[in-house]
Amino acid sequence: MSIRHHLDDATLLAYAAGSLSEGMSLLVASHIDRCAHCQERLQQAEAVGGALLEELAPVALAPDALEQVLALLDTDAGAADVQPVVARAPLLDSQIPAPLAHYLDKPLDELEWRTLVPGVRQLDLRLGGPGATRLLRIAPGLSVPHHSHRGNELTLILRGSYSDELGRFQAGDVADLDEQVSHQPISDSGEDCICLIATDAPLRFSGLMGRLVQPFIGL
Ligand SMILES: [Zn+2]
Repeated sequence: MSIRHHLDDATLLAYAAGSLSEGMSLLVASHIDRCAHCQERLQQAEAVGGALLEELAPVALAPDALEQVLALLDTDAGAADVQPVVARAPLLDSQIPAPLAHYLDKPLDELEWRTLVPGVRQLDLRLGGPGATRLLRIAPGLSVPHHSHRGNELTLILRGSYSDELGRFQAGDVADLDEQVSHQPISDSGEDCICLIATDAPLRFSGLMGRLVQPFIGL
């Protein structure tokens, strides 16, 4: 998998700090699962976060703090707990990254897709929160109405590809967009384009067509 489009620094730092929504964290984890470049950058982001913590003013310790720690070491309470092994969900479909597999019970082609408009189907993961997390399946050659964002939008391509003003996005690529970006993606391969999309606020369609269909497709 040759990945050309990556997460931006702000997103990686927010992920490392644990401040992203569940849907956005899921998407970031799903990209990182397949991207050695972002795995390395995440380690750097975590190191930066650790260094920042060390800069914080030290908290005054109780006079008997050392004694307390030593007492703890003498008991079993100080022993490291055995970490439970987190089971990896069974791999249903090689195009579903491992973190996402926890949320899906079927391969991509067998999911209960709901048609929004002809050629566009979706599956809402219903994670709650202010934004939405969904899988979108777009027929080849179809365009999503031109839109900008009130917040951030993360898109991870699972199958096929699309192009917009920013370039061509293929399986594994992530589009990390903030509210400055307005775009009109067009699926451009010979197969459906399936992507995972997480937003932290609803989209804002700019064209008349987009504004007309928005109430129906709920994007
Ligand atoms: Zn990456």
